[in-house]
Amino acid sequence: MCGIVAFTGATEALPFLLDGLKRLEYRGYDSAGVAVVHSEAQGGAPKAALKVVRRQGKVATLIEALSGTEVAGTCGIGHTRWATHGVPSEQNAHPHLDCSGRIAVAHNGIIENYTHLKDRLVEQGHCFTSQTDTEVIAHLVEQNYGETEGDLTEAVRVTVAQLSGSFALAILHAGHPDIVVVTRNDSPLVLGSFEDGAIAASDTPALIEKTRDIVYIRDRDLAVLHGDGRIEYFDPAGEPFVPNVYHVEWSLEQAEKGGYPDFMLKEISEQPRVIRDTIADRFDDRTRTLRFPELPLTDEELADIDRIYIVACGTSYHAGLIGKELIENWARIPVEVEVASEFRYGNPIISADTLVIAISQSGETADTLEAVRLARQAGAHVIALTNVVGSRITQEAQTVLNIKANIEIAVAATKSFLAQVTLLTLLGLYFAQERLLLTGPQIQEIFGEMRQLPGQIEHILADTAAIERAAKACCEATTALFIGRGVGATTCYEGALKLKEVSYLHAEAFSAGEIKHGPIALIDAAAGTPVVAVVTQSATRDKMLANIEEMKARGARVIAVATEGDGRIEKLADHVIYIPPTRECLSPITASVPLQLFARYIAVERGCDVDQPRNLAKSVTVE
Ligand code: GLU
Repeated sequence: MCGIVAFTGATEALPFLLDGLKRLEYRGYDSAGVAVVHSEAQGGAPKAALKVVRRQGKVATLIEALSGTEVAGTCGIGHTRWATHGVPSEQNAHPHLDCSGRIAVAHNGIIENYTHLKDRLVEQGHCFTSQTDTEVIAHLVEQNYGETEGDLTEAVRVTVAQLSGSFALAILHAGHPDIVVVTRNDSPLVLGSFEDGAIAASDTPALIEKTRDIVYIRDRDLAVLHGDGRIEYFDPAGEPFVPNVYHVEWSLEQAEKGGYPDFMLKEISEQPRVIRDTIADRFDDRTRTLRFPELPLTDEELADIDRIYIVACGTSYHAGLIGKELIENWARIPVEVEVASEFRYGNPIISADTLVIAISQSGETADTLEAVRLARQAGAHVIALTNVVGSRITQEAQTVLNIKANIEIAVAATKSFLAQVTLLTLLGLYFAQERLLLTGPQIQEIFGEMRQLPGQIEHILADTAAIERAAKACCEATTALFIGRGVGATTCYEGALKLKEVSYLHAEAFSAGEIKHGPIALIDAAAGTPVVAVVTQSATRDKMLANIEEMKARGARVIAVATEGDGRIEKLADHVIYIPPTRECLSPITASVPLQLFARYIAVERGCDVDQPRNLAKSVTVE
C-alpha cells in the first residue's frame, strides 16, 4: 500500500519527490507529505533544518499547498499514506518527526509492536503528536542516535532490530543534510543511482525516468543514499555488501496511459499482447511439446505430486479457481484453491509431494508471502506466479513463473488476471503432458487454439457497442447477479468482483445451479435486477438456458455473454454480448474481457474513479 520516495542529489529534491508520488498514486492512498532538508540562515551561518508539508487527500492538494512556499533543498523524502493506525488526517500524514524536529520518517507498512515501544518512549519523555504506529520510529531513531553518538546509519540499524511488522522506511536527519537512510521488511522498496544523485521508491515507475538499473534489497538490509549518487548497502548485522542490479526494460510510456482515458481501459486493451507474450516460446512445434524450463521438477517428482494448493488473494484467487478446473481436468491432480489469509492460519495438509502455486500480481501481497513461507517450512515445493521481477515472492519461492503483463497501474487487475489464467492453462497442459495424460497432438491442438486467443480478444475489443448498451441499461441498479457453470461460474466470480471494485455496484456470482437455493430471492421484478449470464458453448448450455428462463420469469434483466452464432439466446436475454467460439477450457480468457469492459463502463457512467477505486490499494502489503 501507499508509497515512499527518497531523493538526494545535486538538484532540488521536490520535483522528483512530487513526480514520484504521482507515479505511485495507483497504489491507493488517503494523504500525502514531503520533508526536505532546508538551509536556513540563523543569525549568520546557515543551518540545516527540516521543512515538512503534509496534506490529507491527493498529491495535487499537497502540490497546491507547496506552491508559493519556500520549501527548497536537495535531499528529501515523500509519502502517500494508506491509513492503518489513526484516521486519515494531516496530523497522521507522513513524514513524522521526532521531538527535536530534526528527524523525519516516511513509512509504508505496520509496526506490530508499536504500543509496547510507544509506552517505553513516553516513559523516557518522548512526546507523540499523531495516532500512527509510524511515529515510534522517529522517536526510536532519536533515542538511538543519542546512544550511538550521532551515527545515523547505526541508529537506524539498531532501530530496525527493535521493530516487528512490515515496513519500508525512508529517514532524514537535518544533521546529515545530504543523506537518506532507507530499509525494508516485507514491504517493497527499490533503489537506484543516476548521474546527479541517488533515489529510492516503493516501485519502479517512480525511478525509471532517472534510472533503469534497479536494486532490490532484502529484508532488514539498510541502504544509505548519498548526494553524490553513491549508495552504501549494509546487511542487518551492519556488514557492507554489494547488491545485484537489475536492468528493467519498462519505458516510462508503458507506465503511462498511452492515449486511453484511464489505465483500466489501456490495460484491458493490452491483453492480446499480454497473451501473445505469455504463450510465446512455450510450445515446440517440432517436438510437439510444451516447455517450462523454469520448472526444476524431475519427471519423477512431477509424477509424485499428489496434491496442489493454489494460494492467492482477490483476483489472483479467481485465476486460481480457473487453474484448478483445468489442472484437475487435464492432469488429474487434486487441486485446492485457498485464500492466502485462510491458508496461513489453517492447517493445510502438506507433504514433500505437495506442490504449492502462490499467485500474486505484485509479488508483495503480505498474506500470500506468509503462505509461501508456511508451505516451504512444511516441505512443499513452491512456485510463485507473479508480474513483478525481483519482487519479494520471487525471493521466497523455489520456482518463479513470471507472467508477462508488465506494470499494471489500475488498481483493479485486468491484464494480470488474463496473464495468470493463461499461464495456469499452460501449466495444466504441461502437467498433463509430463504425466502422459495428454498426447503431443492433443496438446498441439489446444495450444493452436490458444494462439487464436489474442486475435479473438482484438475482435471483442473492436466493437464494444453491445457491452456499452448493456452497461448503460444497468448503471442505476443497486445489485447485480452473475451466473455461470463450470469455468463459466469462475469467470463470473471475477466479473462480479470487477464490477464491485470499480463501480461500487453490489454484485455477487453464483453457480447457476445454486441460484434457486437462495440467491433468486434477490431478484426484484420492479427494479429489473441485472443478471449477467455466461453462456458459452458447453455441455451445460441447455441448463443455463433454463436458468435464464427462470430469471426472466421473475423479472430479471438478463445480459448474456454467449458464443457467436448462438441464435437461441437472443430470444431469451435482454442484451447479448457475443464472443468468438473457443473450446470451453479457454473460454474464461475470452469471456472475461466483456465482463471487464462492462464493469468499467458502469463505473464511468456512475462517475467513479476507475483507476483508483475508493478504499482499495493495488498492492496489499499488510495482512
Ligand atoms: N501504518 C502507517 C500509518 O497508518 C503507514 C501506513 C501506510 O503504509 O501508508 O500511518
